[in-house]
Amino acid sequence: MKKTTERIEQYEVKEHKYFCDYCGELIPYSRYEPIYCCMCERDICDSHVAYQEYEGDTLEKYCPECWELGKEYLAKIEELEEEEERLYDEWHKKCKEKTEESKNV
Ligand SMILES: [Zn+2]
Ligand SMILES: [Zn+2]
Repeated sequence: MKKTTERIEQYEVKEHKYFCDYCGELIPYSRYEPIYCCMCERDICDSHVAYQEYEGDTLEKYCPECWELGKEYLAKIEELEEEEERLYDEWHKKCKEKTEESKNV
C-alpha cells in the first residue's frame, strides 16, 4: 500500500535590515563600511553621521551625540598633542646643543 502525504518544507530565511537608531530610516547595508557609530555602536543613517574619518583601513563613523560628547575630549587630546610636539622639539634641541658644546671643546 502506498500512502502519500504531502509535506511542505519551510525554510527559515533570516533577513537582516538595519534602521537608523535616530530617525528609523532604513540603512543600505554595506560590506565595505560600517553603518554604526564607532563609539556607542548604534546604527546610524548617512544623515546622522556627524563625523567620519578613516582610521587605517576602516571608516569610523560618529553619531551626533557621541561627536558632541567628544568635542571636550578632542580639545584636550589636541592640547596634549601640541604638548607632545613641544616636548619632542625640546628634546631634539637639547641633543643638538649638547653636540654643539662638544664640538667647541
Ligand atoms: Zn538617521
Ligand atoms: Zn554614538
